[in-house]
Amino acid sequence: MSEQAVETPVLDRYECRACGYVYEPEKGDNSHDITPGTPFAELPLNWRCPVCTAKKAAFTNIGPAGTASGFQENLGYGLGVNKLTPAQKNLLIFGALALAFLFFISLYGLQ
Ligand SMILES: [Zn+2]
Repeated sequence: MSEQAVETPVLDRYECRACGYVYEPEKGDNSHDITPGTPFAELPLNWRCPVCTAKKAAFTNIGPAGTASGFQENLGYGLGVNKLTPAQKNLLIFGALALAFLFFISLYGLQ
């Protein structure tokens, strides 16, 4: 066996069905001295929802964070019309100003 599975600990989040509180393993639970990185399964049995004190049984697995797919792609939508970066816009503005200035100077030069 040459392949070694790289295990990236993706911890499931759990949502309180009573109040909507989401236990995020990456953050832990400050109010109960739960250190960040503690999986929901390893929470003490007497752990309660910090918001509504519901029991662990009231929580439901909603999967790991960052699973909302397509969001990043959607960010690109609607920007097709205006593809100029701020730097490019500045260049346009300063370019126009410089041209106007040169034109102004040239008028003086003619007199
Ligand atoms: Zn709750």
